[in-house]
Amino acid sequence: MVDRTSIFGAAEADGIVRCDACPVLCRIRPGRAGACHRYANEDGKLIRTDPLVLLTQSVEAGSPVVPFLDGQWDGGITPPIFVTAIGAGTTYPDYKPAPFIVSSRHDGVDTVTVVTEGIFSYCGLKAKIDTDRHLGPEAARVLYEGEQIGHVTTAEYGSQMLSLGGVRHLTGGSKREGNLTCAAMLALASKQAIEVQIEGGSTLILQAGAAPIVNGVAEARMRVGCGSAAVGIFAQQWQGHVDEVIVVDDHITGVLTEHQAGKCLFMRAAGIRVRGRRSTPGRYFQVAHPGSGWGGTDVTDPLSLIESIDPKLAWPGLRLLLTSTTGEDSLYVELDEALRPIPRPMPEAVGRTVARIGENCEPALTSILFMAGAGGSLRAGVTDNPIRLTRSVQRGEVRITMGGAPCYLYPGGGITIMADVLAIPDKAFGYVPTPALVAPLEFTLRADLYAAMGGHMDQTLSLASLLAQYGDGATHAAWPAGNPWPVAPK
Ligand code: SF4
Repeated sequence: MVDRTSIFGAAEADGIVRCDACPVLCRIRPGRAGACHRYANEDGKLIRTDPLVLLTQSVEAGSPVVPFLDGQWDGGITPPIFVTAIGAGTTYPDYKPAPFIVSSRHDGVDTVTVVTEGIFSYCGLKAKIDTDRHLGPEAARVLYEGEQIGHVTTAEYGSQMLSLGGVRHLTGGSKREGNLTCAAMLALASKQAIEVQIEGGSTLILQAGAAPIVNGVAEARMRVGCGSAAVGIFAQQWQGHVDEVIVVDDHITGVLTEHQAGKCLFMRAAGIRVRGRRSTPGRYFQVAHPGSGWGGTDVTDPLSLIESIDPKLAWPGLRLLLTSTTGEDSLYVELDEALRPIPRPMPEAVGRTVARIGENCEPALTSILFMAGAGGSLRAGVTDNPIRLTRSVQRGEVRITMGGAPCYLYPGGGITIMADVLAIPDKAFGYVPTPALVAPLEFTLRADLYAAMGGHMDQTLSLASLLAQYGDGATHAAWPAGNPWPVAPK
């Protein structure tokens, strides 16, 4: 544990320590922790209750922890250690320098990494849920323990999307709404499972990296594509085995012989017209209502999608395959003498094409992306002239990481970042009861650029000093093999 008394509050006469790491300013009795449990009073000293996390780049990717240098580093060769902000602490008010400003030399380049656990009032999560199923209307409220914590947003290709958290739910509603929003975000960012309800829609269990559970059923497959794409991809493989294919999809249902894919293969028009609005040949919108049936529609009987069968074009014995975009639902029919579709056992060759659709699906997952804007203490803790940091970030001179994980920087003004929580080490997130989320943030840049931007050079601590002072109490973990090493020169 890191003794933060030198940075934060000193003990009062009765042994109580005032923590000034956030606006709550807890007065913490000896042996107790503050409201967020991130700080505690240990023998009159304010300590950060979680250890500082140091990540060591191993020579062989994926190998376990490289042994700590045990104080024997002579300063000549920089050890491949990255100081994360996990366990580093926060600073308040904003003008205070970040908890650790670490100087080190990497590949011959003098480098500074500024680390701080940011308190984010402006933050949210984007949940990507790989499923065709209709989870709820766009803009529907997402509820957690009865409080709104977000809404359904624009669906993506094969995925439903939720926008969760954000400043309005943290600060703009009731205290309960703010606290539950914070709790839900903390759990999801920490890779835990939570249950949410979508108003007018489904109940979901979400967990980063796990299959979404929709109304009690775990999703298995992320579809190969929309109905039109599936027709385009598999048209050749169907030719000769069936005379028509309808790929049922809530957004774009595909009809093979009418589709350009079927035309290019000189397939005979089958004369089967599906319901809905014809967008372009063989591509139909709104064939049914959204739902949890075939292809994200409310359809459970796919033959109900057939609006008409043209006797001038169709013929008795016509072989028709109906399938969903994942291949999980499929039906093979043949037209009888009266051109009525009659279900038949699916021929083996046709079954193989349906299996091929399934083979091309990916495992359905839930992805949680943390998104936030670097605010006051994060910028003023780096430099006394924060606009220089912002501009340096926007020029690409600064690498921003969260616990070493890479961040996507949004274009435009400010420092707005997004990161996959699965790339961030465990136990990286916390909260304060303002309410707001706490998340690690590291800025890494060349030392000369840091000095030029008005960085807090007088607060800089060499990596060797940091290891000597805090190395024993720190957690030493291996660098995650999937993350790029952030201190390589640009
Ligand atoms: S909530 Fe946590 S960070 Fe804020 S003052 Fe209390 S102990 Fe310190």
